[in-house]
Amino acid sequence: MSSLNLEGCNKCKMNVAVYKRNYSGEVLCRSCFLNSIENKVKKTIGKFSMVKYGDKVAVAVSGGKDSLTLLYILHKVFDYNTRGKLIAITADEGIDGYRDESLQIVKEFCSRLKIENRTLSYRDLFGLDMDESIMLRDSTKISSCSICGTFRRRAIDLLAESCGVDVVATAHNLDDHVQSFLMNTFSGDIERIGWSFPEPVEYGLHGIKKIKPFIGLYEQEIIFYALHQEIPFQSAECPYMHESIRTEVRQFLNKLEESHPGIKYNMYNSVLKISEGLKNQTSVKRSAKCLVCERQSTSEICSVCKTLQILMKKKSSR
Ligand code: SF4
Ligand SMILES: [Zn+2]
Ligand SMILES: [Zn+2]
Repeated sequence: MSSLNLEGCNKCKMNVAVYKRNYSGEVLCRSCFLNSIENKVKKTIGKFSMVKYGDKVAVAVSGGKDSLTLLYILHKVFDYNTRGKLIAITADEGIDGYRDESLQIVKEFCSRLKIENRTLSYRDLFGLDMDESIMLRDSTKISSCSICGTFRRRAIDLLAESCGVDVVATAHNLDDHVQSFLMNTFSGDIERIGWSFPEPVEYGLHGIKKIKPFIGLYEQEIIFYALHQEIPFQSAECPYMHESIRTEVRQFLNKLEESHPGIKYNMYNSVLKISEGLKNQTSVKRSAKCLVCERQSTSEICSVCKTLQILMKKKSSR
């Protein structure tokens, strides 16, 4: 992204440009930029058949810029909310000094947009919050984000089921998507690459679909949109985030993008093709059930139950 003051907008040919989309070379004014983001989201939703008419949509909202912007755009561009078909759901991880501020931002933003917000805490659901889980784990071999991500998926699933929604929208963007591809490649998790194809698959007893309407947007574009729409968001970083390899992968890709503008966009398109090719080979195993909680799982015991067993064993031996 570059801020420009002198060039004219390529699109309307009238206004002063404020944004240069480096991967396409487009130079846009504020209004054309905002429209382009909303149109891209509409196009992604249509292209991958993410939402059917009448679907009730839950947005998984954390208080960060991406998820609040997604809620805002779905509210502004579509009429889900006026038909009572839009809700915000939030997992409270229990991270002291970090989560409280974001929960407050979510609450105020949802009340401003008149959207219902429901929250579920890890403490209520699992008997443990993130701060305690970090203390209980044996070593940093289990990263904080892998525990947190596993618990969050379950919390979001349960919230979505209890709200009776058809679709859960998460704010994964293009940067997240290509980072995850590299991380899954490094760990040899080819199945996850197949599952990451953005055309949603109904899963679980309730047949809920998970969608990622921001998958074609750069993180920088979302920040720029959020700033220009005055969307509030928490800027503090989670104290545990740098344990994950994701931070290194993010820095690596950002550095490449700086010297080769558009490289992340090219990679995104390659990842789409690869994941489309892999998705049918990985869908069968997803229908197995966990022997402990009886929810859908790829192995005999799901990752939530496995993680909880390890942490609870440690807790009871204290
Ligand atoms: S950075 Fe990691 S630990 Fe922190 S909230 Fe996100 S997933 Fe959880
Ligand atoms: Zn313009
Ligand atoms: Zn289980």
